[in-house]
Amino acid sequence: MTGPGSTAPRQFAVTTRPYVAVDDATGEPIGLDEVDIRVGWLLDLITAAGAELVARLWHPATFDVLAAGLDPHNRRLPAQGHVAAARLGWNPTYPDGVHVPSRVTRVVTAQVMATLRTLAYRETAIAALSARFDPATGVLAPPTEPGDAVPPGFARGVRRQLAARARRGGGAPAGRLRITDVQEPPRMAAMARLSAADRQLAQITVAERELVLTVKLPTCPTPAGRTQWRRIRLTAAIPAHLHGRDVSDWHLPTLVLDRRGLLLRCAATELVPAGDLDSATVAVGVDWSPTSLGAAAIAAQGADGLSSDYRGWTYDDRGLGIKLARLQAEGQLLNAKAARLTQLAGAAPPEVRAELEAKIAVLDSHRTAVGIKRGKINRELAFDFARQVTDYAAAAGAQVIAVEDLTTLETRGHGRAKNNRAAQSARRQAVAALAHTAAGVGIAVVSVPARGSSAQCPGCDEPLARPGGYHTAWCPRCRVGGNRDHIAGVNLAKRALLGRGKATRRRGQMPAVRAAEHAPVRPSRDKKSPTPRRPRHRRVRRSLPTATRRLGVTPKQHVPAPQASVWDTVQPTPPHGDTGSRDTRTSQASATPVADSMRCT
Ligand SMILES: [Zn+2]
Repeated sequence: MTGPGSTAPRQFAVTTRPYVAVDDATGEPIGLDEVDIRVGWLLDLITAAGAELVARLWHPATFDVLAAGLDPHNRRLPAQGHVAAARLGWNPTYPDGVHVPSRVTRVVTAQVMATLRTLAYRETAIAALSARFDPATGVLAPPTEPGDAVPPGFARGVRRQLAARARRGGGAPAGRLRITDVQEPPRMAAMARLSAADRQLAQITVAERELVLTVKLPTCPTPAGRTQWRRIRLTAAIPAHLHGRDVSDWHLPTLVLDRRGLLLRCAATELVPAGDLDSATVAVGVDWSPTSLGAAAIAAQGADGLSSDYRGWTYDDRGLGIKLARLQAEGQLLNAKAARLTQLAGAAPPEVRAELEAKIAVLDSHRTAVGIKRGKINRELAFDFARQVTDYAAAAGAQVIAVEDLTTLETRGHGRAKNNRAAQSARRQAVAALAHTAAGVGIAVVSVPARGSSAQCPGCDEPLARPGGYHTAWCPRCRVGGNRDHIAGVNLAKRALLGRGKATRRRGQMPAVRAAEHAPVRPSRDKKSPTPRRPRHRRVRRSLPTATRRLGVTPKQHVPAPQASVWDTVQPTPPHGDTGSRDTRTSQASATPVADSMRCT
């Protein structure tokens, strides 16, 4: 099914807001505020029922059932959450006298099952790690069986959790702990994932530039009967960047309420050119750098082996990385202040305590605002990076982009602040954005092992010298070198080209090359990579004086302000505001958003 001209379906996510609402039966217009209130009632019903069900199921037996994956009749549990829950008899209950349609129950159980299934992974990790954990020293013993291995970042989180439990006086735990021993049941996210329902609860129709969602909502907080659920028809615009795209299918959205009211998180399927990893001959390697998000370089495979021009390209984040770091530091400062005030409030007399609590509330609102701002900048940065790397790869005629496997890449050894900054940077988002954007033009993104990519020579696999310090690299034997990140890009591209036939593909993940192989990359003078774009400056009119000289004051040189953000670019690439798209997943079944729907304590 691959080859030139073939297409592949891929699913992506997009958000939009309704701008008109009418009653489906009468056609009477309904105010959007009223819609927000009714959706709020629906979400309240769903979260209350979901929280009650999760609390009821919060015992080890639940996770035993999920691990076995079998129902009481020893049949395999279906992947669809609400069907599995129905088979297991895991049904939510509602307050007396409240009528809730069975389709809403499906939504509740689907969300609960998604939460529990994600936690099942954590549960196996906790069970494995707690057996190796020594509460006296807080140290994890190394795994004895190969199957016990847990990703290091994840293991560290669980270790902290176990250490905190030991500190709280959990005593000496007797061997294996379960997830229900170490943490409280997770909070239910306030959302309605309509994809678990069917036409009886919601349906979606798409016209030229708008989509119409018909959904049944309660008309009061505690609907007593069928008549107190009414269908509402919501009309929302399809974001402009989707006009003209080959969208083949729209799926039922997830309803959430944010500060601005009802938000529809939609998923859609579109057809894109199929990437062909196996026959790729040119690869772009993307190396993460703490200073500018990333750098890229190219390697090509010809009849006489691998070659590269060893000329790389560094992404220019226009100062946004620094801005993010500053916001992160500010968030941490606010956090520390709030924690200190909370500590003080605990021992203070009542009137002082009230004063302190008011201060804490202000700090909290600032912290939230900083968090939202960081999220927005991260998103814009990710899509701008993705667009530019994709353009670079397309100009070079590459068929594959190699990124470092983030699970094997751990930043350490740069001090606490820098490690933390690198870990929380936009990388993960940038990978998702890159996979999405590159797939749009038929370029595959694969992850390759990160280890040693900027330490070894692409030509001879020997350690590189650092003649100019940390950021430079040079191999005296092959006589190649340059920027450390660009050399790493060549190594990553090499790993993708050598391992492309053995890439593993897991549902919902990008293809991964697991082993780093070596073959010499000879320096080539053929022009392979695109000429880097020169930054374009605003045109200045020479005929007009730029500034009038003031007498008596030392004249200052007129310096044009530098471009400070991705929003200033000449071609505005990523959509922003309310609407936008993200995602990378290619299979429909994997579209269950998981990690963001709950919080573990
Ligand atoms: Zn060398």
